[in-house]
Amino acid sequence: MHTQTTSTNQTHRIATQTLDVPPRLLLGPGPSNAHPRVLAAVGMRQLSHLDPAFIGIMNETQELLRYAWQTDNEMTLAISGTGSAAMETAVANIVERGDVILVAVMGYFGERLVEMASRHGGDVRIIEKPWGEVFEQGEIYDAVKEHRPAVLMMVHAETSTGALQPMAGIGAICREFDCLLLTDCVTSLGAAPMLVDDWQVDVAYSCSQKGLSCPPGASPVTFGPRAMEKINGRRHKVDTWYLDTTLLRSYWLGDVRGYHHTMSSNMTYALREGLRLVAEEGLEARWARHRATAELLWDGMAELGLTCHVVNPEHRIPSLTTVSVPEGVDARAVAGRLLRDYNIEVAGGFSKLAGKVWRVGLMGYNSRPENVLILLAALKELLD
Ligand code: PLP
Repeated sequence: MHTQTTSTNQTHRIATQTLDVPPRLLLGPGPSNAHPRVLAAVGMRQLSHLDPAFIGIMNETQELLRYAWQTDNEMTLAISGTGSAAMETAVANIVERGDVILVAVMGYFGERLVEMASRHGGDVRIIEKPWGEVFEQGEIYDAVKEHRPAVLMMVHAETSTGALQPMAGIGAICREFDCLLLTDCVTSLGAAPMLVDDWQVDVAYSCSQKGLSCPPGASPVTFGPRAMEKINGRRHKVDTWYLDTTLLRSYWLGDVRGYHHTMSSNMTYALREGLRLVAEEGLEARWARHRATAELLWDGMAELGLTCHVVNPEHRIPSLTTVSVPEGVDARAVAGRLLRDYNIEVAGGFSKLAGKVWRVGLMGYNSRPENVLILLAALKELLD
């Protein structure tokens, strides 16, 4: 009898240790440390993506998301992927080839909206603010009036600059000119007020790893009735299969749920738990907690002689502060020592703000006074 022997390549068969990760305090722009209850939920036994028990968990997750976002939108669900996947879902579904799209850019993520809207065929027009500033309503009004876009896109909490765009009133401008409003809430959901229905936001998206205290991987999106009307009337199919809401709909909302993809049950448990925590605390209390923790940071930084890059406190994101790097200080070296010597992660600025700011996140579970005090103590040692 002839037996064939194969010799396998052993090069990549490296010897490894049992996984051990350093105990980082994640005070950067995200991810943030997940809540212990969320981590416990992630480890629960799996369910299949069409198990009736899992469908019940999906339904509860959607309902809790509607609370977090203050919307009655039926089309509210979580995308399998990070915030960028939710961002691309929002853009790909709402943009049709040739649509005039106006993007109000005040930082990197606005620039990314421009890139995505262009890739999906939009005729993109741009208005811009310096990094760290926000738009006045009059500026938005004039631009919408001039360009008459099908969709206005803007970032609520611009993580690259630390600026929080006031959104109340912008939806009304869009309605006046029969335009849809799409808003990036990746850094604001669960941390700063975002009233999707009251503020007449038609499309919004977020992530799980910031204000919702989960690991990254299941990212919320919501589409209002006006957005769904546009999507249902599309002349062309959505140009991505995986992120097509008309297909996702039958999985998340159909009476009889049809297979679309294998949604991670464990990440859905995590998101549900993160959202349960939001509901238990209550939105008003949660927003107030984030604001109070941020103010503690701002006051403590002032005592160290540090200033915020965003000048007006009302325009600062409560969960993400950009701290101006003092003259002569090497921003990267300080962040490196915080990580190496104190197990604290903060991030530097990038693009137009490279070397000019540190980005300090106090998000969800991490938005607590003790984290501020630990960071300030470490910074004091490093900057003295
Ligand atoms: N939009 C904003 C405002 C963000 O801050 C981020 C990430 O930090 C994203 C989009 C993309 O999210 P993700 O990195 O989870 O893909």
